[in-house]
Amino acid sequence: MQTLLLKSNQIDEAGAILRKGGLVAIPTETVYGLAANALDGISVAKIFEAKGRPQDNPLIVHIADLGDVETLAAYVPPVVYDLADAFWPGPLTIILDKSEIVPDEVTAGLDTVAIRMPSHPAARKIIRAAGVPLAAPSANASGKPSPTTAAHVMKDMDGKIDAVVDGGPCEVGVESTVITLATRQPRLLRPGRITPEEIEEVLGDELIIDDAVLGKMKENEKAASPGMKYKHYSPSAEVIIVKGTLESFAKFVNGRAGEDVAALVFDGEEDKIDCKTINFGEENDDLAHAQKLFDALRACDDEGVRTLYVRCPGDEGVGLAVMNRLLRAAEFKVLEV
Ligand code: AMP
Ligand code: MG
Repeated sequence: MQTLLLKSNQIDEAGAILRKGGLVAIPTETVYGLAANALDGISVAKIFEAKGRPQDNPLIVHIADLGDVETLAAYVPPVVYDLADAFWPGPLTIILDKSEIVPDEVTAGLDTVAIRMPSHPAARKIIRAAGVPLAAPSANASGKPSPTTAAHVMKDMDGKIDAVVDGGPCEVGVESTVITLATRQPRLLRPGRITPEEIEEVLGDELIIDDAVLGKMKENEKAASPGMKYKHYSPSAEVIIVKGTLESFAKFVNGRAGEDVAALVFDGEEDKIDCKTINFGEENDDLAHAQKLFDALRACDDEGVRTLYVRCPGDEGVGLAVMNRLLRAAEFKVLEV
């Protein structure tokens, strides 16, 4: 299959491919999504095939109009409208009990559905042009870092999907915040740009943080969010998070410097490091860390890095999302020096 590279104003072309049951990678404010008609199980099954995604990992359904929540969910708790008021369109995904129109391919057989209304103008126009909600996981090969540019998508998906719409680099850089309202108490399943504190303010209630957000799941533990149990976001390199001061980090890494070793560091620290460095923003800029993280992990693969030592960022605010992704990229390898 030849993968078309479309410009962000070629909305009608993208919509036509989706209506015919094809796959189109689309820009969103979080990461690029690999979209298909969410109401058609056969189209959705192609997403799993193209990504090599495990069959038990459900997809998020993207909508452009709030009314679509009512057709996708069996029941819409009133607080959904408050959350939509505060955060939609934007990077928040809400899990609700699903209605009958949502095919099992989307939910991986669960009786709940994840719904989000993206804010990226091209994403919104493409959903409207398709005329249906779009199921769209991140547009990377399963296990790889999520794509934040059209070039990242082409690297993983060229020849496997119908088209990629190039909307430039993604603004947020990490996937949406995922909460479930299908449990007795609202629960955070995946951290993102919208923080737990911001959500609690709207809920007027506590948002429980699922153990899998910063912890490692046990072998036979049942995942509230199936995506959390997989190795994720990984470049080919071994990733190791190193906690400590800049001085102790530099001493540790410099003792291990080599051709295929790199360090992921904060801006301005590169002079202290003897091996190849990749930057991911100022030390206290959690938004920059989020925006640059996946591009940095992908750069490792491009440069043949075999070991990547990472300066440990803070886990407050959007930092919680950055740490959640980094811990999975590192398979929970954290060293203190
Ligand atoms: P991705 O779109 O690649 O960012 O992955 C979607 C994430 O949402 C994965 O971690 C899924 O496990 C999670 N997800 C989607 N639908 C559900 C659902 N019904 N219940 C729990 N988690 C879900
Ligand atoms: Mg993903």
